[in-house]
Amino acid sequence: MTDLTSLTLADARDALKRKSFSASELTEAHLAAMEKARVLNAYVLETPDEARMMAQAADIRLGKGEAGPLEGIPLGIKDLFATKGVRTTACSKILGNFVPPYESTVTAQLWRDGAVMLGKLNNDEFAMGSSNETSAFGPVVNPWRREGSEAKLVPGGSSGGSAAAVAAGLCVGATGTDTGGSIRQPAAFAGITGIKPTYGRCSRWGTVAFASSLDQAGPFARTVRDAAILLRSMSGHDPKDTTSVDRPVPDFEAAVGRSVKGMKIGIPKEYRLDGMPAEIEKLWGRGGEWLKAAGAELVEVSLPHTKYALPAYYIVAPAEASSNLARYDGVRYGLRVPGRNVIEMYENSRAEGFGAEVRRRIMIGTYVLSAGYYDAYYLRAQKVRTLIKKDFEDCFAKGVHAMLTPATPSAAFGIGEKGGADPVEMYLNDIFTVTVNMAGLPGIAVPAGKDAQGLPLGLQLIGRPFDEETLFSLGEVIEQAAGRLTPAKWW
Ligand code: GLN
Repeated sequence: MTDLTSLTLADARDALKRKSFSASELTEAHLAAMEKARVLNAYVLETPDEARMMAQAADIRLGKGEAGPLEGIPLGIKDLFATKGVRTTACSKILGNFVPPYESTVTAQLWRDGAVMLGKLNNDEFAMGSSNETSAFGPVVNPWRREGSEAKLVPGGSSGGSAAAVAAGLCVGATGTDTGGSIRQPAAFAGITGIKPTYGRCSRWGTVAFASSLDQAGPFARTVRDAAILLRSMSGHDPKDTTSVDRPVPDFEAAVGRSVKGMKIGIPKEYRLDGMPAEIEKLWGRGGEWLKAAGAELVEVSLPHTKYALPAYYIVAPAEASSNLARYDGVRYGLRVPGRNVIEMYENSRAEGFGAEVRRRIMIGTYVLSAGYYDAYYLRAQKVRTLIKKDFEDCFAKGVHAMLTPATPSAAFGIGEKGGADPVEMYLNDIFTVTVNMAGLPGIAVPAGKDAQGLPLGLQLIGRPFDEETLFSLGEVIEQAAGRLTPAKWW
């Protein structure tokens, strides 16, 4: 009997249609796997009752030949997506036991297409972090371990639960959000595929806001094809989000396997960092060779403002966060800590409800937006952002179809190993990914090999606005060459 928890989404979809097994059987297999994998702490809430009901409904539709594109596919949902009647916390104490009376547009579209919800996945508090260690529910453990070591590693962040769950076979696919790298970095750390689509491709409605001009939803999956299938269901115009873009959603899956012959792939020279591990450099070179062998042409390009991306991001993102998080005041929802008057109640609730990293961001954000500093910090960061965007536009205008870069500056690191004394050490994880959010472009992370300790490493492809299709075509070339990576089961 095939292990139902190791199938690709495409295979599971086709097998369900052939009636090789039922949606209920597929769901039960995942619920059992989740129970055995609680040590990973990937789920902050398991929803077996909802899952069984949804799977039964899917079986009925499959029986009638009325299957939607994701009929019967069990998914995990990052706890940043509001799910109607199901606790949604953004992994923050301040949301307490908040149960939304509404469903996010992205998840509503997944259910519309027949998917089954297994539960809510762990993430960094309000998606602020690169290791899932800021979650109020504690860290997620990466299913990957260094060869010969039992040390617990982070799965990356902020969508750490999503990455770990998909890699460990605790769901067929998962949702994530990416503000500065939160889909691509954890995907790379877990040896799976993750794509942040173009800003505006997915509706942000019903997703807990971090930095609204940067936040985008996207899928995690075990293959490039699976990511393409999921993204199609997640995408599309939504009148409830004015930044969602009204343009047709392509059949992304059709781009998987499409020839990349003649495509011009930019290799940005500024991404060759001083002190970059030789393994990452080698991986990057090998990825380029694979694309060349498939008929693409490599060209060196320059993105001169790259070095300002991280500092500018860490002004823009906290600024927007400080404004978005102002709503958590102990009045409307979540935690309330009483005080002698309303101001003290606000202060007590926010001091008690927010974790240290979130408090840091709120303070930085409030500072850079304050009267005397607005021009020096926020306005200047916005100008830098325009320059970063222009760097990419100039390359694309010269005929570059996509860029190839490393996804992360290292493989997964140990829990508790980074950022304790200096938060910037953690922020540096986003060095290759934040530029893409600042420019609003699509970026995909694809597993491309392992480091000397047996940990997965990923490459990133960055595309033109709304050209996710090219990323799927190129990503599949890398996937074919590198092969699928699966962690050895120890849990
Ligand atoms: N690691 C980045 C941060 O902490 C990005 C997080 C994200 O993309 N949500 O801000």
